Amino acid sequence: RSKEDGRGRWTFYDASMDDEREERNLLELDLRAAIDREEIGVVYQPIVRASDYRICAVEALARWTRPGHGPVSPEVFIPIAESTGLIDLLGLCVLRSACFALRQWPDLTISVNVSPGQFRDPAFVGRVGDILKEAEIEPSRLTLEMTETYFIQNPARARQTLDMLREMGIKVALDDFGAGFSSVGYLRQFGFDRIKIDRALVEGVADRPRDAELLHATVALARSLDMPVTAEGVETQAQAEALKQAGCQLLQGYLFGKPSGQEQITQMTVSLDDKPRLYATK
Ligand code: C2E
Ligand code: MG
Ligand code: MG
Ligand code: MG
Repeated sequence: RSKEDGRGRWTFYDASMDDEREERNLLELDLRAAIDREEIGVVYQPIVRASDYRICAVEALARWTRPGHGPVSPEVFIPIAESTGLIDLLGLCVLRSACFALRQWPDLTISVNVSPGQFRDPAFVGRVGDILKEAEIEPSRLTLEMTETYFIQNPARARQTLDMLREMGIKVALDDFGAGFSSVGYLRQFGFDRIKIDRALVEGVADRPRDAELLHATVALARSLDMPVTAEGVETQAQAEALKQAGCQLLQGYLFGKPSGQEQITQMTVSLDDKPRLYATK
């Protein structure tokens, strides 16, 4: 703001900032209420094997329809849940729904996203174990997806956490690889069970040679560390083929299915019996 507007140029005060803060507070209140009333929904996105495009897993994704406003993106409400501590409850709700849904899909495994803040609660790992027991789900069928921030910010704690999860038999995937500042060093240090390559790296693989090279290098790196690779955000057949050629074992994206309700996933698994592909190549 300039001097002329009478507020002094060193302040960035702006009435719209108050409005924003107010709106954020209201959003937080509504989110809190939604969690209390168990109104956070969960959808499931298919993950297919690159070898035959058949579904082998799903990723659980949180959904929230805000009363009077319509659906709110997780890109909006997850950061709010993280900064307000609501993520602890929200995360456990999603995990519980996911584990109980998985009971209907004996041939699948499930991935659930976890925010770094959830590990601040020392009881978190135990709670995960309790939910698995309650749902009677084999721990090896659960993958927790985490982003690099946790491993960079608090490597010592992260290592302990990983060890505990691994001891329980739970798998850990590094999410959104290639979107941040990921370095080879911490990949080696942590030994994830799987790496998920971010959509940003996947986008150009079919038509930009540079992107294809970068993908090949990334997959080669992951493989040299014995970490299988999932590609996210696969939207075209050309991408799927390029990713498969590069050595990605699992693929996820709108080409194979958008995040869907439980019934739709059940239909996809039922039709596994007669072995049609989820995405039929022409
Ligand atoms: P993510 O874990 O990387 O999930 C993948 C996101 O990419 C999802 O967005 C999914 O709908 C979207 N996506 C999948 N395939 C395609 C595609 O082919 N094209 C495009 N354009 N997008 C695709 P969504 O559901 O909006 O979730 C966004 C992010 O919010 C997630 O990214 C994750 O970081 C976070 N999130 C969602 N649910 C949870 C949760 O229960 N707990 C936590 N901690 N985070 C969550
Ligand atoms: Mg994820
Ligand atoms: Mg991701
Ligand atoms: Mg993401």
